[in-house]
Amino acid sequence: MKSPPTAGVLALQGSFAEHIAILEELGYPARPIRLPEQLDDIDALIIPGGESTTIGKLAVRYGLIEPIRRHAAAGLPIWGTCAGLIFLARDLGNSEQPRLDLMDITAARNAFGSQIQSFEADLDIPVLGDPPFHGVFIRAPIISATGDGVEILARLASGGVVAARQGSLLATAFHPELTGDSRLHDHFMARMKR
Ligand code: GLN
Repeated sequence: MKSPPTAGVLALQGSFAEHIAILEELGYPARPIRLPEQLDDIDALIIPGGESTTIGKLAVRYGLIEPIRRHAAAGLPIWGTCAGLIFLARDLGNSEQPRLDLMDITAARNAFGSQIQSFEADLDIPVLGDPPFHGVFIRAPIISATGDGVEILARLASGGVVAARQGSLLATAFHPELTGDSRLHDHFMARMKR
Protein backbone atom coordinates (compact mmCIF):
# COMPACT_ATOMS: atom_id res chain seq x y z
CA MET A 1 0.00 0.00 0.00
CA LYS A 2 1.20 3.51 -0.77
CA SER A 3 2.21 5.39 2.36
CA PRO A 4 0.24 8.56 3.21
CA PRO A 5 1.73 11.96 2.32
CA THR A 6 3.88 13.66 4.95
CA ALA A 7 2.96 17.10 6.24
CA GLY A 8 5.34 19.77 7.43
CA VAL A 9 4.10 22.44 9.84
CA LEU A 10 6.10 25.65 10.06
CA ALA A 11 7.12 25.67 13.73
CA LEU A 12 8.60 29.12 14.32
CA GLN A 13 5.76 30.49 16.45
CA GLY A 14 2.03 29.94 16.95
CA SER A 15 -0.26 26.92 17.05
CA PHE A 16 1.92 24.40 15.20
CA ALA A 17 1.60 21.66 17.85
CA GLU A 18 -2.20 21.59 17.46
CA HIS A 19 -1.89 21.11 13.69
CA ILE A 20 0.61 18.29 14.13
CA ALA A 21 -1.73 16.54 16.60
CA ILE A 22 -4.71 16.67 14.18
CA LEU A 23 -2.62 15.43 11.25
CA GLU A 24 -1.29 12.51 13.28
CA GLU A 25 -4.80 11.64 14.42
CA LEU A 26 -5.80 11.49 10.75
CA GLY A 27 -2.88 9.16 10.04
CA TYR A 28 -0.63 11.65 8.21
CA PRO A 29 2.99 11.76 9.38
CA ALA A 30 3.65 15.36 10.44
CA ARG A 31 6.91 17.16 11.18
CA PRO A 32 7.77 20.57 12.61
CA ILE A 33 9.71 22.65 10.07
CA ARG A 34 12.36 25.12 11.22
CA LEU A 35 15.19 24.68 8.73
CA PRO A 36 15.23 25.01 4.93
CA GLU A 37 16.52 21.46 4.34
CA GLN A 38 13.54 20.03 6.24
CA LEU A 39 11.34 21.21 3.35
CA ASP A 40 12.88 18.60 1.05
CA ASP A 41 11.10 15.61 2.60
CA ILE A 42 7.51 16.83 2.90
CA ASP A 43 4.52 16.61 0.57
CA ALA A 44 2.57 19.58 1.94
CA LEU A 45 3.22 22.54 4.26
CA ILE A 46 0.95 24.21 6.83
CA ILE A 47 1.66 27.68 8.21
CA PRO A 48 -0.17 28.06 11.51
CA GLY A 49 -1.87 30.99 13.22
CA GLY A 50 0.06 33.12 15.65
CA GLU A 51 1.58 36.52 15.02
CA SER A 52 2.44 37.13 11.38
CA THR A 53 5.10 39.78 12.09
CA THR A 54 6.93 37.35 14.39
CA ILE A 55 6.59 34.43 11.97
CA GLY A 56 7.87 36.70 9.18
CA LYS A 57 10.89 37.94 11.12
CA LEU A 58 11.85 34.44 12.25
CA ALA A 59 11.40 33.08 8.72
CA VAL A 60 13.89 35.69 7.48
CA ARG A 61 16.33 34.86 10.27
CA TYR A 62 16.11 31.11 9.58
CA GLY A 63 16.60 31.66 5.85
CA LEU A 64 13.23 30.09 5.00
CA ILE A 65 11.59 32.64 2.69
CA GLU A 66 13.39 31.83 -0.58
CA PRO A 67 13.41 28.03 0.00
CA ILE A 68 9.64 28.01 0.68
CA ARG A 69 9.07 30.09 -2.49
CA ARG A 70 11.19 27.65 -4.48
CA HIS A 71 9.25 24.65 -3.20
CA ALA A 72 5.94 26.45 -3.88
CA ALA A 73 7.05 27.10 -7.46
CA ALA A 74 7.82 23.38 -7.76
CA GLY A 75 4.26 22.56 -6.66
CA LEU A 76 4.45 22.09 -2.89
CA PRO A 77 0.91 22.62 -1.53
CA ILE A 78 0.88 25.29 1.17
CA TRP A 79 -1.99 26.11 3.54
CA GLY A 80 -1.84 29.28 5.64
CA THR A 81 -4.27 29.72 8.54
CA CYS A 82 -4.85 33.14 10.10
CA ALA A 83 -1.33 34.60 10.57
CA GLY A 84 -0.30 31.99 7.98
CA LEU A 85 -2.79 33.50 5.51
CA ILE A 86 -1.17 36.90 6.07
CA PHE A 87 2.27 35.35 5.55
CA LEU A 88 1.13 33.87 2.21
CA ALA A 89 -0.51 37.02 0.87
CA ARG A 90 0.83 39.12 -1.96
CA ASP A 91 -0.70 42.38 -0.72
CA LEU A 92 -1.12 43.67 2.84
CA GLY A 93 -2.08 47.22 2.01
CA ASN A 94 0.77 49.49 3.07
CA SER A 95 2.60 47.00 5.31
CA GLU A 96 6.13 45.93 4.45
CA GLN A 97 6.29 43.09 7.00
CA PRO A 98 8.27 40.11 5.67
CA ARG A 99 6.09 37.51 3.98
CA LEU A 100 6.08 34.86 1.26
CA ASP A 101 4.22 37.05 -1.24
CA LEU A 102 2.87 33.95 -3.00
CA MET A 103 -0.92 34.08 -3.14
CA ASP A 104 -2.79 36.63 -5.19
CA ILE A 105 -4.93 37.94 -2.34
CA THR A 106 -5.07 41.15 -0.33
CA ALA A 107 -5.23 40.45 3.40
CA ALA A 108 -6.43 43.00 5.95
CA ARG A 109 -4.93 42.24 9.35
CA ASN A 110 -7.07 42.39 12.48
CA ALA A 111 -10.02 43.12 10.22
CA PHE A 112 -12.64 42.68 12.92
CA GLY A 113 -11.44 45.50 15.13
CA SER A 114 -10.93 45.59 18.84
CA GLN A 115 -14.54 45.18 19.93
CA ILE A 116 -14.83 41.66 18.53
CA GLN A 117 -11.25 40.51 18.27
CA SER A 118 -12.47 36.94 18.60
CA PHE A 119 -15.72 35.33 17.50
CA GLU A 120 -17.07 32.08 16.12
CA ALA A 121 -19.22 31.51 13.06
CA ASP A 122 -20.61 28.50 11.23
CA LEU A 123 -19.33 28.51 7.66
CA ASP A 124 -20.79 26.91 4.61
CA ILE A 125 -17.77 25.45 2.77
CA PRO A 126 -19.05 23.69 -0.37
CA VAL A 127 -15.83 21.69 -0.95
CA LEU A 128 -16.41 20.05 2.46
CA GLY A 129 -20.17 19.51 2.14
CA ASP A 130 -22.41 19.29 5.22
CA PRO A 131 -22.48 20.11 8.07
CA PRO A 132 -21.22 23.72 8.25
CA PHE A 133 -17.65 24.19 9.51
CA HIS A 134 -17.36 25.90 12.87
CA GLY A 135 -14.87 28.72 12.36
CA VAL A 136 -12.95 30.18 15.31
CA PHE A 137 -11.65 33.67 14.49
CA ILE A 138 -8.95 35.13 16.76
CA ARG A 139 -7.80 38.64 15.84
CA ALA A 140 -8.40 37.32 12.36
CA PRO A 141 -7.59 38.81 8.99
CA ILE A 142 -10.05 39.01 6.14
CA ILE A 143 -9.35 38.50 2.44
CA SER A 144 -10.34 41.90 1.10
CA ALA A 145 -9.49 41.28 -2.56
CA THR A 146 -8.71 38.26 -4.74
CA GLY A 147 -6.87 37.97 -8.06
CA ASP A 148 -8.19 36.20 -11.15
CA GLY A 149 -6.88 32.72 -10.38
CA VAL A 150 -8.27 32.66 -6.85
CA GLU A 151 -11.33 30.58 -5.98
CA ILE A 152 -13.38 31.74 -2.99
CA LEU A 153 -14.20 28.80 -0.71
CA ALA A 154 -16.06 30.45 2.18
CA ARG A 155 -17.64 33.75 3.20
CA LEU A 156 -19.11 35.10 6.40
CA ALA A 157 -22.82 35.99 6.37
CA SER A 158 -21.65 39.59 5.90
CA GLY A 159 -20.00 38.56 2.62
CA GLY A 160 -16.40 38.81 3.88
CA VAL A 161 -14.10 36.22 2.29
CA VAL A 162 -12.50 33.91 4.87
CA ALA A 163 -11.24 30.96 2.81
CA ALA A 164 -9.75 30.77 -0.68
CA ARG A 165 -7.64 28.60 -2.93
CA GLN A 166 -5.24 29.36 -5.76
CA GLY A 167 -3.81 26.25 -7.39
CA SER A 168 -1.83 24.49 -4.68
CA LEU A 169 -2.23 27.35 -2.18
CA LEU A 170 -4.99 27.38 0.45
CA ALA A 171 -5.76 30.20 2.89
CA THR A 172 -8.20 30.29 5.80
CA ALA A 173 -8.73 33.24 8.16
CA PHE A 174 -9.92 31.08 11.07
CA HIS A 175 -8.29 28.39 13.23
CA PRO A 176 -9.36 24.92 12.04
CA GLU A 177 -6.92 23.28 14.47
CA LEU A 178 -8.95 24.41 17.51
CA THR A 179 -12.36 22.87 16.82
CA GLY A 180 -11.92 19.11 16.61
CA ASP A 181 -13.24 19.15 13.03
CA SER A 182 -10.50 17.65 10.89
CA ARG A 183 -12.25 17.91 7.50
CA LEU A 184 -10.11 20.79 6.24
CA HIS A 185 -6.90 19.01 7.20
CA ASP A 186 -8.12 15.90 5.41
CA HIS A 187 -9.17 17.94 2.37
CA PHE A 188 -5.77 19.62 2.20
CA MET A 189 -3.75 16.43 2.62
CA ALA A 190 -5.90 14.11 0.50
CA ARG A 191 -6.97 16.45 -2.30
CA MET A 192 -4.18 19.01 -2.63
CA LYS A 193 -1.06 16.91 -2.23
CA ARG A 194 1.33 17.02 -5.15
N1 GLN B 1 -3.57 39.14 14.23
C1 GLN B 1 -2.55 38.20 13.95
C2 GLN B 1 -1.57 38.76 12.90
O1 GLN B 1 -1.78 39.79 12.39
C3 GLN B 1 -3.10 36.89 13.45
C4 GLN B 1 -3.89 36.23 14.56
C5 GLN B 1 -3.95 34.75 14.48
O2 GLN B 1 -3.17 34.10 13.78
N2 GLN B 1 -4.85 34.20 15.24
O3 GLN B 1 -0.60 38.14 12.61
